[in-house]
Amino acid sequence: VMAELRWNPILGEWVIVADVRQDRPVLPRDSCPLCPGGLEVPRDYYIVSFENRFPSLERAPKAPSIKGDDLYRVRRNRGVCEVLLYTSEHDLAPSQLDLSRMEDLVEVWVDRHTELSKHDFVKYVFIFENRGEVIGVTLSHPHGQIYAFPFIPPLIRRELRRAKLYYKRKGKCLFCEVLRRERASGARIIYENEGFIAFVPFYARFPYEVHLYPKEHVLDLRDLGEDQRRELALSIKVILQKYDGLFDEEFPYMMVFHQAPVDGKDYSYYHFHVEFYSVKRGKDKVKYLAGVESGAGTFILDLSPERMAQDLRGVKTELELN
Ligand SMILES: [Zn+2]
Ligand SMILES: [Zn+2]
Ligand SMILES: [Zn+2]
Repeated sequence: VMAELRWNPILGEWVIVADVRQDRPVLPRDSCPLCPGGLEVPRDYYIVSFENRFPSLERAPKAPSIKGDDLYRVRRNRGVCEVLLYTSEHDLAPSQLDLSRMEDLVEVWVDRHTELSKHDFVKYVFIFENRGEVIGVTLSHPHGQIYAFPFIPPLIRRELRRAKLYYKRKGKCLFCEVLRRERASGARIIYENEGFIAFVPFYARFPYEVHLYPKEHVLDLRDLGEDQRRELALSIKVILQKYDGLFDEEFPYMMVFHQAPVDGKDYSYYHFHVEFYSVKRGKDKVKYLAGVESGAGTFILDLSPERMAQDLRGVKTELELN
């Protein structure tokens, strides 16, 4: 059994090697380990979080299987991987969770973020959800995950670098400027409430990609006030309902939280947001990440962001009417 971090000196990023994950359960048809009384969980629960039995990152990892050097660097895969069950109801789509439960989920995210960021080996807390078989989800029970990384993941690093550069040049937040541009145009906005705004980015990479931002400049979940937390819960529920309304079936998606790192440095130029992506570009059409995306890193979008925004705006939810 091998679990370690290996450095890619060409791209300048860590890869997690964790072959324990090969033994993960694959879509058990008859019994769900996440249902009440299942293998992993209490007999009775509301919302519960626990550490993954097949973690990519471990609290107390063994030494790496191989010796590294200054080019081929190797590190222990120290970190924490948590699973968060949204409900005990196996068949409930996340879009159908009660608003009050969604609000409680936001509180749990805040709590886990706070707790995990206390470890000195944790540099970044990554909250996310994968949903749908086409996304590669092995368990359909409504749940999300949290990775507490011992490094800042590459996509976040790229965002940080760009935001820092923009701040140096212009003296303002890059993300706040994007929000100003989106609000001025309106063409890509799909939903807005008092504290949050959701839009398909001008530069979307995935089908029906949506970015959700607090209008106020905050660095992470913990900076959100009580009202903003409620508005975050409401916004997430609206976006997921719009997703499920697109093709009148449960829409596969990834939901990822982009927050400032927790390594103690100053990231006041960063702006918290949540990103949603899918690979579904039509009722029976899937977007695959093929040669150009995987091998060149350039994304090709088959639908215009303005058209995707129009489709999502067209799905009305009862939550938007009041
Ligand atoms: Zn279940
Ligand atoms: Zn900002
Ligand atoms: Zn982002």
